[in-house]
Amino acid sequence: MKWQPGHRSSDVEDRRGQAAPRGMGIKLGLGGTLILALLSAVLGKDLLRSVSGGAGKEPRAAGAADDKALEFVSYVLDDNQATWAKLFPEQFNRPYRKATMVVFSDAVDSACGEADSAVGPFYCPGDDKVYIDLTFYQSLKDQLGAPGDFAQAYVISHEIGHHIQNQLGTERSVRQKQKGLSKEEKNQLSIRMELQADCYAGVWSKTTQDRKLLDDGDIEEAMGAASAVGDDRLQKASAGRIAPEKWTHGSSAMRMRWFKRGFDSGLANQCDTFSAATL
Ligand SMILES: [Zn+2]
Repeated sequence: MKWQPGHRSSDVEDRRGQAAPRGMGIKLGLGGTLILALLSAVLGKDLLRSVSGGAGKEPRAAGAADDKALEFVSYVLDDNQATWAKLFPEQFNRPYRKATMVVFSDAVDSACGEADSAVGPFYCPGDDKVYIDLTFYQSLKDQLGAPGDFAQAYVISHEIGHHIQNQLGTERSVRQKQKGLSKEEKNQLSIRMELQADCYAGVWSKTTQDRKLLDDGDIEEAMGAASAVGDDRLQKASAGRIAPEKWTHGSSAMRMRWFKRGFDSGLANQCDTFSAATL
């Protein structure tokens, strides 16, 4: 991706190196709003090992590589938000409300509870914040096999997709509908919500193409990431078998399909996963 380094977003809260909250191990209880909830179950140990750097849990001092990483997520966040600030009045007939991104190391406190890095990046509707430990990107590349800057951009734009759902009331309405449903039915709704976030990520990506910000292979990188976090692929890697009734985010094929749908159309109204006959 062609991007401008050297800038930190005023909407990024850098909490790296801050002490982890006490009482770790509390579940977030967010289910479908965690982009990579399944990752914690599947790759939790690996992720924990990679973020803690082995034995110790001493916070690392931020170095030049960290600054570059922070500048990149700053750029992607700002670009996403500027884009949606423009698209909201056009496509949803309302103004966009900005989210904040919290960059943390090891563990973090949010309005949705305490979380550690193993849960992967997530969005908390209770405080309008995206949470990310940047070491996740190393895992995305090394353990999940999805390298590239646009793979990283996809992750952030997916989380902003949840922020869009929060503003539009989609998230609330799904939570409401899920009450009283069976676990399997709840998962079905969760999948539709996750795929919609993937589709919104595609819509943003389309605008980057229109603005000539994409390098060759960027869309393949995003598709690679969407595929890497598909429930079937993660299940196969961990348990060796696939159990669709336990999916909360959708299969690799579904995730790529909905990202592509947003990308091909550039229209948020093409992201209505809730009335789609097939996913
Ligand atoms: Zn998600």
